[in-house]
Amino acid sequence: MTIRVALGERSYDISIENGALDRAGELLAPYAARGRFIVVTDRNIVPNQLYRLESSLTAAGIACAVEVLPPGESTKSWAMLEKLTDAMLAYGVERNDTLIALGGGVIGDLVGFAASIVKRGCRFVQVPTTLLSQVDSSVGGKTAINSRAGKNLIGAFYQPVHVLIDPTTLDTLPIREVRAGYAEVVKYGLIDDPAFFAWCETNVRQLLGGASEARLEAIGKSVAAKARIVGEDERETSGRRALLNLGHTFGHALEAETGFSDRLLHGEAVAAGMALAFRFSAAQGLCSADDARRVTDHLAAAGLPTTLDAAGVDARGDALVAHMLHDKKMEGGRLPFLLARGIGQTFLDKQVDLAAVARFLDADRG
Ligand code: NAD
Ligand code: ZN
Repeated sequence: MTIRVALGERSYDISIENGALDRAGELLAPYAARGRFIVVTDRNIVPNQLYRLESSLTAAGIACAVEVLPPGESTKSWAMLEKLTDAMLAYGVERNDTLIALGGGVIGDLVGFAASIVKRGCRFVQVPTTLLSQVDSSVGGKTAINSRAGKNLIGAFYQPVHVLIDPTTLDTLPIREVRAGYAEVVKYGLIDDPAFFAWCETNVRQLLGGASEARLEAIGKSVAAKARIVGEDERETSGRRALLNLGHTFGHALEAETGFSDRLLHGEAVAAGMALAFRFSAAQGLCSADDARRVTDHLAAAGLPTTLDAAGVDARGDALVAHMLHDKKMEGGRLPFLLARGIGQTFLDKQVDLAAVARFLDADRG
């Protein structure tokens, strides 16, 4: 399956195929300037996926330099950016060279940012290996590292030249990470595709169990939705792309409260955030209580947290709202919120009263 991200001269294809990693030599050959790549990955990906990529490239006569970084969110740092860019320069990287980001969103975000600044921009390919990165972070060109002031605050919009998705890489991904990535899959249904949400309800067990058909369908549908939205609003200026932040404002507050740590993974925070956004919408009379319940039930059935308690957060509503005020999306002192009129009917509301949000959070805890 091939899906195109249509962005004029920055357009690119996403190939989704079981076993794509073993055909990388053939599929990525057009991007290998001077017959070589610089592959960047993290230590957890070395034992399984790196070997597959390297053998395929070698068999195709393509050389690769490999840079292995430590796993984890703390790799999206100035220190690792410096280490990576120094290594690239030591390899003699030229603007025509292509980096391959083999890994989850951490590697993708860091490598994309490094590609955007070294020699004022060289090329990069995303080879995402987590469900979250396959359905979300590898597509759309948002790249970033974290700073002392917060997550993803230093970065650039910088599109890859190709995205290669091999769903079989998920066979080695811990189930908790698979579930977390699944939250972002459900998100596409909730934004504007109620039929896809219904498909998720029917197929969640097969999907989480690793069934090949269900996995391909979920990834294909998600990537197509993201590609379409990014094509309409690359830099999040018209409000279209902002829809992808459904559940993320609530979620961000929960992540901040749990210290952006393994206590609560990003996708878990997004799941709880989406359930809260739907229940808040219902409490405001925007959407039916039935729809809010259906969303909550589905995410819970997937083994994801849907309440503050389940997310391990005991902070009060006003403390959580205080975290939201540090959100990058603040506009002139107001925080645009994604709310819903129903499943598949998400919209951006710029007039949300934060005091009402705080009261809702305390009441929702019950
Ligand atoms: P991650 O990259 O940290 O990967 C999760 C864990 O799984 C890591 O320990 C990793 O080493 C391991 N792993 C990866 N692939 C594996 C495999 N196939 N088998 C076994 N282990 C494997 O996390 P993630 O959830 O992929 O990404 C989260 C990051 O993505 C965050 O930093 C977030 O800010 C970013 N993000 C970016 C965007 C964007 O648009 N750029 C969107 C959403 C999230
Ligand atoms: Zn997300």
